[in-house]
Amino acid sequence: MERDDVTRHGHRPVAPTPLTRTADVVIVGAGVLGAATASRLARDGHRVVVLERGAPGREGSGTIAGDLHVQVTRIRRPGETAPPDGARLLPLQRAASALWETVEDDLGASVELRRCGGFTVAETEGQVRELHDKHGREIAAGVETEVLDGDAARSALPLLGPAVAAATWCPSDGYANPLKVTPAYLADAARHGAELVPFTPVERITRTGGTWRVEAGGRTLEAPVVVDAAGPWLGEVAALTGVGLRLTPVTLQMHATVRAPATLRPLVRHAGAGLSVKQAAAGNLLVGGRSAGAVNLAGRSEPAVDGLVGDMALAVRMLPFIRDLRLLRVWAGPLAATPDGMPVIGEVPGMPGFLVAGGTRAFTLAPLWAETLGCLVAGTAPPVDVADLGPDRLVRRNRAG
Ligand SMILES: Cc1cc2nc3c(=O)[nH]c(=O)nc-3n(C[C@H](O)[C@H](O)[C@H](O)COP(=O)(O)OP(=O)(O)OC[C@H]3O[C@@H](n4cnc5c(N)ncnc54)[C@H](O)[C@@H]3O)c2cc1C
Repeated sequence: MERDDVTRHGHRPVAPTPLTRTADVVIVGAGVLGAATASRLARDGHRVVVLERGAPGREGSGTIAGDLHVQVTRIRRPGETAPPDGARLLPLQRAASALWETVEDDLGASVELRRCGGFTVAETEGQVRELHDKHGREIAAGVETEVLDGDAARSALPLLGPAVAAATWCPSDGYANPLKVTPAYLADAARHGAELVPFTPVERITRTGGTWRVEAGGRTLEAPVVVDAAGPWLGEVAALTGVGLRLTPVTLQMHATVRAPATLRPLVRHAGAGLSVKQAAAGNLLVGGRSAGAVNLAGRSEPAVDGLVGDMALAVRMLPFIRDLRLLRVWAGPLAATPDGMPVIGEVPGMPGFLVAGGTRAFTLAPLWAETLGCLVAGTAPPVDVADLGPDRLVRRNRAG
């Protein structure tokens, strides 16, 4: 590494300055991560172009539950060989939670952020044990939670059903409206000079003379930095450069009931299944976040009927009042799972300036990952250490290694 490449913070900017460029940073994907990153980088004065294959915020980020996880659940989802490392996620979720506090002020827009607190509920003995274990990890990480037995949980939230054997309460859990978050970030990015190009899939990425050349819909852009924030397609976009990442696109399923009078204030999540229930600002109860049918990245992933039956039955056990609400809509959304269930963020080894960000909890972590990517681009110290979350752990090696 050249001495000039190291900033006064001791971090290397992700790419040296090339001679020609049409942008400073090209972001692939206008989901919540691409949007938040565009806003951060444009505010930092970079010339940013966001290329989006379809409508912005339509894929993962247009289909999600919108939970802002602070307390941790250790659910192994499809595509993961292990449940995520809860202790490692806690400081990240705590840091992201602090940044969410100012998102509405920063963007000058309401995203229906509710810091309503959340219950994680257990039905079985094993789940109750897991609540106690996770409470220990949360306290150690400085995240305030409290374990309540079933009766104490029902006196705190009388809507909880008799099947609830225990719950943890976390006052900083919350949610935001995903349909507002991504557009708010994109509008902010545009105000700061970023260009958004929708319906323009990136088809080719090559590297010449220290510059990335990105081809999409008849355009060619040159930039020293490319951020692959393509969500479920993150691996596909990385593969355009010749690198294989071990990521599995999967789908999760969501359900919305008809609108109801304001009834449920906190977020309620199931410890064993990861299913969450909340009441959106418009009054609909949103239920979901568990696995659905087969993923379809060429078209729309379809929800599964057995998922619908199982999820709604579980939601009714958690919160019996849901039984009386008609179901309005059910849908499935795609996301990319890493084998270890942990997020991925950082530069691909051997590919200066090619950054990836995605994987689990991208919504919760979006403001933090945007800050982090801003620092990686500038060569300054990121707000959290992400050295162990880089894509090197996902790179498929050939036999020669
Ligand atoms: C149903 C569901 C519920 C979830 N609930 C939560 C939750 O409550 N809390 C939470 O923290 N996380 C949740 N997640 C996980 C994750 O946080 C979200 O999926 C998140 O929205 C992902 O954002 P993203 O920006 O990484 O990807 P996406 O929103 O999927 O955006 C990626 C974008 O890249 C574009 N793209 C792909 N290929 C190309 C290409 N070649 N050229 C240009 N553009 C391209 C896509 O069109 C897409 O718009 C949920 C996921 C799902 C599916």
